Amino acid sequence: MARDYYGTLGVSRGATDQEIKRAYRKLARELHPDVNPDEEDRFKEVTTAYEVLSDPEKRRVVDAGGDPLAGPGAGGFGGDPFGSGGLGDIFQTFFGGGGGGGFGGGRGPRGRVRPGEAALVGVTLDLDEIAEGARKEITVDTAVLCDSCTGSGTRGDSKPVTCGTCKGAGEIQAVQRSFLGQVMTVRECPECRGAGETIPDPCLKCGGDGRVRSRRTLTVKIPAGVQEGMRVRLTGQGEVGPGGGPAGDLYVEVSEASDDVFVRDADDLHCTVRVPMVDAALGTEIEVPTVLGSVATVTVAPGTQPGAVVKVRGHGMPHLNTGMRGDLHAHLDVVVPRRLDAIQTELLTGLREAIDDDVELVSATSKSAGSGGLFSKLRNAFAGR
Ligand SMILES: [Zn+2]
Ligand SMILES: [Zn+2]
Repeated sequence: MARDYYGTLGVSRGATDQEIKRAYRKLARELHPDVNPDEEDRFKEVTTAYEVLSDPEKRRVVDAGGDPLAGPGAGGFGGDPFGSGGLGDIFQTFFGGGGGGGFGGGRGPRGRVRPGEAALVGVTLDLDEIAEGARKEITVDTAVLCDSCTGSGTRGDSKPVTCGTCKGAGEIQAVQRSFLGQVMTVRECPECRGAGETIPDPCLKCGGDGRVRSRRTLTVKIPAGVQEGMRVRLTGQGEVGPGGGPAGDLYVEVSEASDDVFVRDADDLHCTVRVPMVDAALGTEIEVPTVLGSVATVTVAPGTQPGAVVKVRGHGMPHLNTGMRGDLHAHLDVVVPRRLDAIQTELLTGLREAIDDDVELVSATSKSAGSGGLFSKLRNAFAGR
């Protein structure tokens, strides 16, 4: 029996090309997988029906009572596993058609032994550990192979038997009437949950699942230069699958503990250095211990202004792939003495007379370096500096 392409689109046999196109567009909008993922199969049927009826040659075959997509090699409705005809007009399955690990869309029993899921654990490293790379112990709580039945799920010498509910098919079929004609639905067998077989005498330790939960400690090697949120994959260290199926992978996600001194920005490090007013004026050098045991020499040039940033190349974090180190950015905070003794006051008073600078009211729009105007300061503040 040929498929009812007219019924699928909900148009009459005498419909014009315009009417067919309009009906298809309306249904496609409703059923598009982006809008309605559950209706993906109907979307495919509707699209197929439109492809047939919008092609004059194919439509002639349909009008003559045939099916242009039937016969050997015809694509049709994605290789109807129940054979064309028999159950009627439209084939529908509620499960995703392959991929995505879903129920196999009427492809028979999927078996008890299935691959395991991936697992995810987190690990926190401090800046020094990230700089050097580290070996960290992690504790994972996952499904492992049941050692009592070695994954078979059966007790002693007993064997699994064919499921009585689905007769081994792993799925239950039902025919429903709808406005589109007869619709066949397929759902997973509730008895064997799609496996097609059941275990009458299950292993006492795992209850027939072939796996048990267990806590393990593993050592994971974290490469130098990793960034927050990156994941290291340990192949086959995830969950063992149902029925003792192959284990999924284990992902270890890196978190970076905040550091007391340094703020990391990719491969660069930032720190704040307090510089006494006189050192900023006269210039000096400051040694800053950074990661990997290195000491960066921060050169404070004579006449350094508050907020100046000195970049020291090669004293940042190592890059994940190349190992090349980023830079250190020292943000200089010029400090004015809070209290002066008599001698210091005398010296500074002398300095004031020698320099003879005026106190100045700055124009709000001033762009001069150091004593930048209010607007540019606010702008910089908004820019995050
Ligand atoms: Zn079953
Ligand atoms: Zn067992």
